[in-house]
Formats: sequence, structure tokens, C-alpha cells
Amino acid sequence: MKCSICRRERSAIYLDEVVKDISYELDLDPETVTTKVRYCNDSDSCKSKLNAFVFFTKETVRRASKGIVPSTRVARRVGV
Ligand SMILES: [Zn+2]
Repeated sequence: MKCSICRRERSAIYLDEVVKDISYELDLDPETVTTKVRYCNDSDSCKSKLNAFVFFTKETVRRASKGIVPSTRVARRVGV
């Protein structure tokens, strides 16, 4: 499994997972869109970046392109 933040391949025992509600960033009602974020539980660097992490993924952008989430806002936030 990979850490969502540093992208290193890690053993599962070093990865914790949180579910983030990203609906607010997409101008949607709460809990419309959530995403799972894995981070290295032994890395202060990864933990400290967790809150500031930009949760838009390729999957989010793909959904946006299909109109599942508002594409203009996603595009603006990820800079594509
Ligand atoms: Zn990490």
C-alpha cells in the first residue's frame, strides 16, 4: 500500500487511514463526497501534512469530467 502523502510504498502496519469529507471543497452538501487518505503513522512529516493535504485525486478529477462533481471548481483547485 502507498502513503497518500509521501507516495512511498509502506507495509500496512505503518499506514493509518482517515476518511476525509471533501464535499465542502466541491461546494456540495456535507458527506456527498468522501475520500480515504492513508498516511505513514511513523512519520511526523506525513502526519503534519495530513490536514493541509489537497484531497483532489485523479479519481476526483475523473468524476468531475463526468459531471459527478462540479468540474470548474475541481479544475481551479488542482490547477488543470
Ligand atoms: Zn508517508
